[in-house]
Amino acid sequence: MAVYFDERTSQNEERGARRGHRLWWWVAATVVCTVALPVASSGQGASAAPQRAAAVCTGATYTVVSGDGWYLIANKTGVGVSALLAANGATIATPLFPGMRLCLPASSPSTSAPATTTPVSTTPPATVTISQFPVQGTCYFTDTFGAPRSGGRSHEGVDIIAKSGQYIYAATDGTLTKQYIDAAGSLAGNGWRLTRPDGTYFFYAHLSGFQPGVGKGTVVKPGDVIGYVGSTGNASIAHLHFEIHPRGGAAVNPYPAVKAISGC
Ligand SMILES: [Zn+2]
Repeated sequence: MAVYFDERTSQNEERGARRGHRLWWWVAATVVCTVALPVASSGQGASAAPQRAAAVCTGATYTVVSGDGWYLIANKTGVGVSALLAANGATIATPLFPGMRLCLPASSPSTSAPATTTPVSTTPPATVTISQFPVQGTCYFTDTFGAPRSGGRSHEGVDIIAKSGQYIYAATDGTLTKQYIDAAGSLAGNGWRLTRPDGTYFFYAHLSGFQPGVGKGTVVKPGDVIGYVGSTGNASIAHLHFEIHPRGGAAVNPYPAVKAISGC
């Protein structure tokens, strides 16, 4: 009996303690919501504090991933560990769980995405210049890079409108590394890939034909004729579609490069 009685006493005390704890959090949460202070407490209920604090973040947040620790997150997000702890009402002993959202200090340089999404490569795309305008004049072009195209695509080049049969030139020193031959359903139609030693390549599309004697592997100089303006592939009027891919990467807007030496 004595044991039973002791257990009940113990359970009642526990319930009372839990009730008290819940009440404390209710008060704390009310205060937080009313005055919008990110720091709900200092010390008490430390393990729950980060989640609670994240709910009232007014700035950037960080979502904890597996393997994170306070110092690692501070390092990733470029903030001081003490500022990070303060912003979340936490201590260095406060445990972290994957999926937990943390407030980043207001002074944090990261305002939206967590640092884990920062691209590994910070090298900006090269500014590519060309030494020969790729089409014989008379011609016409505007900046349509990024304009919507069929099939959810966006325009990745510049369209230089000219009469069918006008010369198409190598815009730079390099090698013709790929030849596109027009076929049913082809987007490019007849075309070339002209590649520089650094991997930068230029894509030519919609040619009516190729210059005789020029093929894959031909080394060219600026101004060499490599084909003729046409409307093969996905083209409604005769024009050259011209793309620039710095170091073999994603296309960049070629308009500044062609505008700089416009031969139209
Ligand atoms: Zn185009």
